[in-house]
Amino acid sequence: MRKKLIAGNWKMNNDVEESLSLVKELKSKELNDKVDVLICPPLTSLYSVISELKDSSIKVGAQNMHYEERGAFTGEVSPIMLKNIGVEYVIVGHSERRQYFNETDFVVNKKIKAALEYGLKPIICLGETLEEREKGIEKDSVRNQLTKAFDGIKESQIVLAYEPIWAIGTGKTATSQQANEMTAFIRNVIAEIYREEFANKVVIQYGGSVKATNASEILNQPSIDGALVGGASLNADEFAKIVNFGN
Ligand code: PEP
Repeated sequence: MRKKLIAGNWKMNNDVEESLSLVKELKSKELNDKVDVLICPPLTSLYSVISELKDSSIKVGAQNMHYEERGAFTGEVSPIMLKNIGVEYVIVGHSERRQYFNETDFVVNKKIKAALEYGLKPIICLGETLEEREKGIEKDSVRNQLTKAFDGIKESQIVLAYEPIWAIGTGKTATSQQANEMTAFIRNVIAEIYREEFANKVVIQYGGSVKATNASEILNQPSIDGALVGGASLNADEFAKIVNFGN
């Protein structure tokens, strides 16, 4: 039985003080213990948030990293540095990074390898554009991203986030059927690349305008193992409602 993972991607929001205040508010709430809860604050808040959460079950992830261990990469942070401060997960290949920072499938693959090498759990984001969906080639696009992401990667603890690009930060959500169909498709492709037994263990989230009002519908789909939440994770009440979707 896969445990659901509900993750908040704060993106480039919240300074240290704001991060701590949000995390303290979240900590004070009763959260569904049947799901894993993860927050991904901006880099400057990671250390303080990890310290604040040391006795809590809320997990902490980074939003990005470089694939090299160290070196002349001005402005970057390495997997070893993240691991060193207690980061557990790292988001890789978010569509905003692909779109604005030229993160290619090749780079995504290198980052996944580096994350696994240093004991970080990658959350690999993939999803089609609106144009691809309108042309009916959304599955080809997702299969292509998935195959390239997994190139040379052995079975490991990874999380996938299906995030149709047209649904991120737009208020448009994929229907629960569309999201369930694509996550099931992703699991089938993983089974083709690896084994069905492994595919059945991989946590596959949905991301794209998840909020308290649609969380239950999405998270109750059989193939969906959680959510990657952007905007709605910036408010403790809203995020807690998503986490407590069943109640
Ligand atoms: C995201 O950042 O991964 C995301 C899904 O954002 P939003 O929930 O705001 O659409």
